[in-house]
Amino acid sequence: MRAAVITGEGRVEVTEVPDPAPGPLDVVVEVAATGICGTDLHILGGEVGALPVVPGHEFAGTVVALGRDVDPRTTRARVGDRVAVDPSLYCYRCYQCRRGRENLCEAWGGVGVTADGAAAQFAVAPAAGAVVLPDHVPLQDAALIEPLSCAVHAVDVLAQHSGGAVGASVLVYGAGTMGLVLTQLAQRLGATVVDVVDVNAERLATAAALGATATATSAGELERAEPSASAPAGRGWDVVIDASGHPAAIQDGIDRVARGGTYLQFGVASPTARASIDPYRIYSQEITITGSMAVKRSFERAAELFAAGAIDASVLISDRVPLEDYPAAIAGVAAGRGRKVLVLP
Ligand SMILES: [Zn+2]
Ligand SMILES: [Zn+2]
Repeated sequence: MRAAVITGEGRVEVTEVPDPAPGPLDVVVEVAATGICGTDLHILGGEVGALPVVPGHEFAGTVVALGRDVDPRTTRARVGDRVAVDPSLYCYRCYQCRRGRENLCEAWGGVGVTADGAAAQFAVAPAAGAVVLPDHVPLQDAALIEPLSCAVHAVDVLAQHSGGAVGASVLVYGAGTMGLVLTQLAQRLGATVVDVVDVNAERLATAAALGATATATSAGELERAEPSASAPAGRGWDVVIDASGHPAAIQDGIDRVARGGTYLQFGVASPTARASIDPYRIYSQEITITGSMAVKRSFERAAELFAAGAIDASVLISDRVPLEDYPAAIAGVAAGRGRKVLVLP
């Protein structure tokens, strides 16, 4: 079959590879679409995952084979079904898995990250992660369910630390796909204000079109624009989410959290990035700083939210390109062009 392969740091090519065979508990999916995201850039940069690898962890397609031990009592997917697939590979045996923190698994892996993924005609994944889609969901668009499931987990983390988004003022850094998904989710959850900051004017326009309360190229600009519906001047935002991964945005965001508020690291920063904190303020204002990592028991809910129209796929997906164009497509994502780019094998 044809597949995009990241062969080494900074090197990606489309080439012929053997067709994958399922393990006993796996599913083989004929891929309809795979999204490219920031994580793929980190894999290409050699910071995450194991090379060589076929990237592609955000995908949907049609089931063409099931492993011999897949139990029809517990796995709904059948050959011919249209599915979106949770790419998580947990061990279910380590200390963290046994404490119910599977996404922090000590042997954590992901299809398209540590194992070959879906930038290929066929992909293998655990059958338990294949979620059957309702007929009205366009199959290609369902590649957005994985990023949505990461956002659902982020919202779970916020609920745990801050009581959730209802009635809160929220500031999102980064109006890429994830920032836009988080913006829509925060609105749906009842946030009073969802402000969005990005340096890219086109992305800000998209955030505004999706209903962001206010948009600007810096949070300082938003504060100076007071009084408005946005977070009252000087008080900060109850919830600040970084969906950019950029150190300057992260530092700014940590400093914008309101008293009693929560900062959530969602964007994937470089492992060597550093930001400073103000311990006195964290103490005296009870600031929470936390993070959310990938998917945790959130994929089914994301699939249901997606089927219910919680995010606007027609706005989020900017490009659909053939597999042969993968190298150019990932270069475009690296350059910040477009929103979600779908690769169609
Ligand atoms: Zn992703
Ligand atoms: Zn584990």
